[in-house]
Amino acid sequence: MEKNNKAVVVFSGGQDSTTCLFWALEKYDKVEAVTFDYNQRHHEEIEVAKEIAYDLNVKHHVLDMSLLSQLAPNALTREDIEVKDGEEGELPSTFVPGRNLLFLSFATILAKQISAKHIITGVCETDFSGYPDCRDMFVKSLNVSLNLSMDDQFVIHTPLMWLDKAETWELADQLRAFDYVRKNTLTCYNGIRGEGCGECPACNLRQKGLHTYLQKRGEVNS
Ligand SMILES: [Zn+2]
Repeated sequence: MEKNNKAVVVFSGGQDSTTCLFWALEKYDKVEAVTFDYNQRHHEEIEVAKEIAYDLNVKHHVLDMSLLSQLAPNALTREDIEVKDGEEGELPSTFVPGRNLLFLSFATILAKQISAKHIITGVCETDFSGYPDCRDMFVKSLNVSLNLSMDDQFVIHTPLMWLDKAETWELADQLRAFDYVRKNTLTCYNGIRGEGCGECPACNLRQKGLHTYLQKRGEVNS
């Protein structure tokens, strides 16, 4: 892959954004990561993100976004709201309205400050859990607005947009990051690193994808 320029990765310490971080490190000369602290249910997320950035020798910015939980209490920011998938036609309890709108906007403002042109986010339409701001159309539209707002030419990259979870594992493998991602990232809503609790919706999705990919590699039987 061609090496050029500087990039900012929106980074949570989870499987997807860690895979994006490895992706960016292949592609760009300089990579920095940004994590948003919005009183996540598990502060562990921030610690995991810090450790991974340190491991990969990436400069790490943690921005305070606690106003998000003030505006929009939900299952990711409040212990007393249960994590569950949305019923038919409604959004899941983990939906934080405007989260990606804010995260991508702040990541781009940071990019402006550090003279980076590329912003990378792990959002994805394929395992679409009903989050409208994970859609390709939204990201493209926001990219145009951000460029207009700062009179600049940022490019928002979404390397996982059309991949399912198994294909995201495959990408990590291609980037020689499979074992690292499997062992060190935190996806679980119950704050357990690596294989996770095995029971929450995030763990289910991650394990299903992992199983499918391991089958493809011929390591497990169906
Ligand atoms: Zn879990």
